[in-house]
Amino acid sequence: MAHRLEQQVAIVTGGSRGIGQAICESLARDGAVVLAVARNVEKTQAWVAALGADVPGRIVPVALDVTDVAAVNAFVDRVAEEHGRIDILVNNAGITRDGLVMSMEDDQFKQVLDTNLTAAFYFVRAASRHMLRARRGRIINISSVGGLMGNPGQANYSAAKAGLIGMSKSVAKEVAKRGITCNVVAPGFIETDMTADLPEKIREGAKQVIAMQRFGNPGEVAEVVRFLAGPESSYITGQTIVVDGGMYM
Ligand code: NAP
Repeated sequence: MAHRLEQQVAIVTGGSRGIGQAICESLARDGAVVLAVARNVEKTQAWVAALGADVPGRIVPVALDVTDVAAVNAFVDRVAEEHGRIDILVNNAGITRDGLVMSMEDDQFKQVLDTNLTAAFYFVRAASRHMLRARRGRIINISSVGGLMGNPGQANYSAAKAGLIGMSKSVAKEVAKRGITCNVVAPGFIETDMTADLPEKIREGAKQVIAMQRFGNPGEVAEVVRFLAGPESSYITGQTIVVDGGMYM
């Protein structure tokens, strides 16, 4: 069977676990070489080793803090030099630091913006230079339904995730003529470390407002990312695709 992403090189941030892990696997199963970026690479190394030679592509764990602009620039240029191309960029790294706005610390707001939004800008800026030269590329930014509907206790997170949507539309308009698309995937509640620690009352309450009455799994997000990264999505850009079991519509 031909693999749609054969020969292609992808960068996935936050690739060590959760949704990012599923995205790395999905792209590699379609033949891509995937650079899986996270601060802690031991987790990535463990599940990559467990995958074994089962995937046609390759997953390379990379230790990098996405908020370090100098490190991001150097890394992206190194990928382009070593592999000769960057076809796919998935900005997925994210954190939450929830709290009510009246008591939210400056740092609490800034850290969430730095990781979820500013870091994505660093990667888009660096990678788009190579994509523009190659006249091809796929940029996919992972937002959240929180960026569309807001969530109490998440003024920082919702601001960052809404910011990603606005940034993606501008980028889409800038690069469309050069064969590059830029889209957003906005997940709802997905079973990962990020949602595991939520109090049971909040988890149960959330299920009540999801039409499918269940949380999603990382693979259900990853398949949408794979579609947006592949050839079938060639005429889609600037869009936000919500993957939330019918919570926000
Ligand atoms: P997760 O399980 O907490 O994983 C977060 C990933 O981001 C990890 O790989 C983490 O690796 C990485 N990361 C965090 N800060 C980083 C930094 N400074 N530099 C490099 N990597 C960093 O989260 P998830 O649930 O899979 O979420 C993935 C994305 O989906 C996030 O953008 C999140 O906001 C979004 N999302 C999730 C849900 C959900 O319900 N789970 C819903 C909507 C949107 P290290 O800690 O090793 O650095």
